[in-house]
Amino acid sequence: MIEVLRIGTRLVRDDRVTTHVTLVSRAFGASKIYMYDANPEIKETVSKVNKMWGGDFEVEIIENWKDVIKLRKKDGYKVIHLTMYGENINDVQEQIRKEEKLLVVVGAEKVPREAYDMADYNVAIGNQPHSEISALAILLDRVSQGHQLQKKYSGGEREIIPTKKGKKVIDKTTI
Ligand code: SAM
Repeated sequence: MIEVLRIGTRLVRDDRVTTHVTLVSRAFGASKIYMYDANPEIKETVSKVNKMWGGDFEVEIIENWKDVIKLRKKDGYKVIHLTMYGENINDVQEQIRKEEKLLVVVGAEKVPREAYDMADYNVAIGNQPHSEISALAILLDRVSQGHQLQKKYSGGEREIIPTKKGKKVIDKTTI
């Protein structure tokens, strides 16, 4: 079970990145994302994606990110904070794969010091700055070791049939 928490300032001015962090969470195997100060339209966007492509990924707009971490820790989740200052993913991925429940924390801009202290793992996807979208995608892919990319999402209206050229899509509403 994997959930994602996005923290940091200026989230509301950052709609496109928020959408991409959410879509990466959904496509790479998380079941839910928590965020605050976000444009509430993100919930509508995700429900349209779920309807068309399947699955039941959830978005929860929260008031207090520390409460989410505290609650999830009580439920047995291990908290992985993605930061360029952390331990290299190559050195901790085997240990992380053994954890059953993960709450992955990504920043938007400046991340408060408490996030580093509350985390069970501070993990760097390399020690150079890049983005929460790429860091999240790589972490989730390392955790699932690629298996997530073959997962079927149930209940959608459409399903893609992978092809060498062009686009092949089944419309399941007419079957
Ligand atoms: N200087 C900012 C800070 O104080 O955290 C960096 C913000 S960066 C644009 C947004 C987020 O991307 C970070 O909070 C972190 O979650 C993620 N990130 C960026 N580079 C990373 C790296 N090399 N490893 C892990 N996470 C990274």
